[in-house]
Amino acid sequence: MTRHFASDNYAGICPEAWAAMQEANAGHCPSYGDDAWTQKASDLLREIFEIDCEVFFCFNGTAANSLALASLCQSYHSVICHELAHVEADECGGPEFFSNGTKILLGAGPAAKLTPDAVDHLVRRRSDIHYPKPRVLSLTQATELGTIYTAAELAALGQCARQHQLRVHMDGARFANAIAALKVAPKTITWQVGVDVLCFGGTKNGMAVGEAVIFFNRELAAEFDYRCKQAGQLASKMRFLAAPWVGMLEKGAWLKHAAHANAMAARLAAELAKIKGLSLLHPVQANAVFVQMPAPAAATLRQRGWRFYDFIGSGGCRLMCAWDTTEADVLALAADLRAVV
Ligand SMILES: *Cc1c(COP(=O)(O)O)cnc(C)c1O
Repeated sequence: MTRHFASDNYAGICPEAWAAMQEANAGHCPSYGDDAWTQKASDLLREIFEIDCEVFFCFNGTAANSLALASLCQSYHSVICHELAHVEADECGGPEFFSNGTKILLGAGPAAKLTPDAVDHLVRRRSDIHYPKPRVLSLTQATELGTIYTAAELAALGQCARQHQLRVHMDGARFANAIAALKVAPKTITWQVGVDVLCFGGTKNGMAVGEAVIFFNRELAAEFDYRCKQAGQLASKMRFLAAPWVGMLEKGAWLKHAAHANAMAARLAAELAKIKGLSLLHPVQANAVFVQMPAPAAATLRQRGWRFYDFIGSGGCRLMCAWDTTEADVLALAADLRAVV
């Protein structure tokens, strides 16, 4: 079996998610979310976040983000995010499309993280009617560069958002990796710091497919079910989107797998740091390692069969670890890199 470092979505389905799907496959049950698996998965999420939130399941992160943002905005509003944010750079205009034209305003900041100053600047530079009215702050946790906002940084951003009457969306495609790294209760980096809606990724955590859209601010969830249906995101056999969440959440597999992926990235970074001619580009805080390598080395590595991306973020090669990345994979890649640099 071949494992790559291109993306955590190259990986297969983890045993816990697979077993739950198999269990959910017994017989008939009600469709469109009126089933016991969907109820149980939603209840588990409410338990883990320690709040009575509204939960929806959809197929992928692009839809989760786009529809969540659309539910926070009118078409004349704007969404503030980092210039490297997935919602800006990797969703093909989905958020703008589903919100009927809401504009995205880009902020800068080191390590793919926004700062209150950057947000402040985007809000304050205009206050006239000709500017798309800032309405949402969108934060990615863990970020597109594999870095993580601390709870204090999020609290400061949350306060900034409140000052400017911005709603807060969190793109949590790798939320599990952030929680595993920070070792905090999920509430401390979400609703307690002002996050209104979280798109919690299951796919990159080890599921086949599926993201949970979690509204901590329940009023904002009004008619979200209609948005999902219209966008083709209402699964008729919803139990198969929901059951893996039960498998992942019930006994902590989501954290186990995320912590493992993070540990493999840390191991890989430590190996690469020893190789002359390579330089690590960003702090390795989740499951991604960004490295600058000579172009011929990258080409030779690819010839040897390794897959990795070089179009994400701000340059360099991205090496991503998954729930099933082994130490042997890490060492094999490091050995090949040592040989080609
Ligand atoms: C992978 C990812 C998503 C979701 O992407 P889909 O391919 O649409 O599931 C969203 N945000 C970030 C930061 C991601 O890395």
